[in-house]
Parts: sequence; C-alpha cells; structure tokens
Amino acid sequence: PVKKDKRKNIIKSEKLLGVCYDIRGPVLEHANRLEEEGHRILKLNIGNPAPFGFEAPDEIITDVVYNIREAQGYTASRGLFPARKAIMHECQRQEIPNVEIEDIFLGNGVSELIVMANQALLNNGDEVLVPSPDYPLWTAAVNLAGGKAVHYMCDEQSDWFPDIDDMRSKITSRTRAIVVINPNNPTGAVYSQELLEQIVALAREHQLVIFADEIYSKILYDDAEFVPMGRIAKDVLCVTFNGLSKSYRLAGFRSGWIILSGAKHLAKDYIRGIDMLASMRLCANVPAMLAVQTALGGYQSINELILPGGRLLEQRDAAIEELAKIPGVSCVVPKGAIYLFPKIDRTMYDFDDDQQLILDFLIQEKILLVQGTAFNWKQPDHFRIVFLPQADQLRQAIIKFGEFLQQYRI
Ligand code: PLP
Repeated sequence: PVKKDKRKNIIKSEKLLGVCYDIRGPVLEHANRLEEEGHRILKLNIGNPAPFGFEAPDEIITDVVYNIREAQGYTASRGLFPARKAIMHECQRQEIPNVEIEDIFLGNGVSELIVMANQALLNNGDEVLVPSPDYPLWTAAVNLAGGKAVHYMCDEQSDWFPDIDDMRSKITSRTRAIVVINPNNPTGAVYSQELLEQIVALAREHQLVIFADEIYSKILYDDAEFVPMGRIAKDVLCVTFNGLSKSYRLAGFRSGWIILSGAKHLAKDYIRGIDMLASMRLCANVPAMLAVQTALGGYQSINELILPGGRLLEQRDAAIEELAKIPGVSCVVPKGAIYLFPKIDRTMYDFDDDQQLILDFLIQEKILLVQGTAFNWKQPDHFRIVFLPQADQLRQAIIKFGEFLQQYRI
C-alpha cells in the first residue's frame, strides 16, 4: 500500500478566490479527457480561427519569417517602434485624435494587457462596471487586481445594447472604470454612436476610465458601422484594446496593444503604473510584434470573409437558420465578431444547470459549446457557439443540439 503523504497541501493564493474563467473550465477539462480516450471533439467553444482553415494573410507570415533574425533581443518595454507607429497611423485612419507613439503599448495578446490595465488601476475594493454577459477575462482580471466587477445588464430585447439606466444605477463612489466590448463577445452586438456617447457622458460625470475592448473591430456584417470609442471619448481617459488574434487570424502569435487617448493629462500617474508593469515583463513577444506593421498596412483580407459571399458571413447565416428551426431557441443576429449567444426558453425545456446541459451534450455528441453562465450571465438559459466551422459542419452540430435538447422537453 502507498503511504499517505501527511504534509500540508499546497493551496492557491486567496487572490484567486474570485477569479474564474469558465470558457476553459470543467467542461473543457472533460473534453480533453475524452480526446485522450481517442474521441474527436468538435470545438465550438473558443474563437480560434486558424484551426478552422482561416489562415493569416500570407504576406504577414512571409514578413515575420524574413525578419525573424531581427527578433532575437528584447525591445523597449512598450514595444517595437515601427509596430507602434503603424498603430498610431491606424488611429489616424480611425479618427481617434491625439494619439502619439508614446501612447501605445504592445502586449502578449489583449489578454495580458487586460490584466495589466486593471492591476495598474485598482485598489482593493475598487469597482469596475463590466457587461453581463461579458467576455469573462474582464471579470477575472478585475477580481484578480483586488477590485470588484459590478455587472451592468445588456438587453437582449434591444439587440443586446447595454441598459444605460442600469449602468448608471450601479455607479458608486468606488467605481473607477467602465468596460465596453464592441463589437461584443459573446452577443455580436455593434454599438451605435449614440449609445457610446451616453456611456462617455456617464464616464465624464463620474470621472471613470473607459476600457474599450475592440478586438473584433474589423469583423462586421450587414453594413454594421463600427465607431471607435476613442473617437467619441475625447475628454475622458480611454484605453482601447486591439490586436492580431481575430481580424488577422493570428491568435497563436499572442499580439495585442493598448492605445491611450482622451484625458491623458489627468492620468500621468496611472500611465506610470502601466509603464512599470510593462517593464516588469521586459517586453512582449518580439516575432509577433514584427507582424503588426504588415498586418495594419497591408491588404485587409478579413473583408473577403465578412462581405456577401464571404465564408464568415455565410457561416453566420447558416447557423442562424438552423437555430431558428429549434423550437424554443431564439438568437439575436450578430452584427459583428464570430459568436452566437442563443436563448433557450426554459418554459419549454426542463433543466436548471446550464453547465451540466453543455457537459451532457459534450458527452453525448462530442461537441463542445460554452454555457451562458460562464459569461457572467445569471440565468442558466443561454449558450455560446462559435461560427468558425464550415457551414455544413455547423448545421450538423446545431441540428444535433436541437435533437439533444428534446430530451428536456416539458
Ligand atoms: N477580448 C475579447 C472580447 C476576446 O473575445 C478575446 C479573445 O477571445 C480577447 C480579448 C483576448 O484576445 P487575445 O488573443 O489578444 O489575448
């Protein structure tokens, strides 16, 4: 018999108690076990374009390969100069005023910068307004930084636009920032200029920082118009997040950036804090920074995927069409990004744990979705599906979900 090790267990820090990232949570762990047993899993759980045949533009790869020998040393902690200059020019094209090279920091994906931006801002107990549903890294990063994520509601009845009254009602003396994800993950909403102006008015009145996560800014459908927050938020501090993972299908490169705009003169100390954190990780991955200039300045092949006849648009429409055939399932048509966030009518289906539902579907059909509650959506009545697979495969997966759901029919 093995002798029991009587030493104390090694326990994770209390800082992690409020931190949760269920997109890669228990259901994914189960999927990984099934894969180890030899099952093939269709992964509709994460927005990872390349494995579905969405390859990055060739000129970017060629450029990085050609220049890779130049990427052996550290760079300045804010990042490579030509990359930051290209991002500055992008700001000029987007009419975001008053952005200089010094206002741009490159990171290992937007993810790293979300963590840094919160760590640099928040004291224990400070509050950040985060959407519900959200991209859960935001809630996790706020909590990790000792802050408290306070969720404002997005309204499914109004194309998933944020409820401004709810947002206003949740501002307290501890509120420091508002997170705006536009185009939105998971809902696909693309916000109007009028809505952004209302959010900026709240930020102005209560001296809040705006965190604008715009990683899907180039993935738009049906003539949706994307308005950059930095263009509107001229007199409050705006931190815009963007990167190469989605629009340029380079998620594996881990390349993202932040742009500081608006009332930078009020934020000198905060910016020194960001600088400090950027210095502590020395610099971001240099080969990935080599890709930025070509990506932003080159041919924007993403447009071929989202315009009529484009693969992403076609797949979105196929998924919407199949979902509409399932009784009691409804879905707001996404105007941007790569996700659907359908609702299941629980007066028609009997279940009260959406994670269990998604786990049972995985076990039965070997298809991986994410339960709505993973996006800090309180009611267990939504799920998220990534529309990256080819239309036929997507249709089959949704048909299977519809059939699976009938086991719960009231
Ligand atoms: N923000 C949103 C809204 C996302 O959906 C994602 C990835 O899915 C990220 C940030 C993280 O992106 P990155 O690959 O740049 O870390």
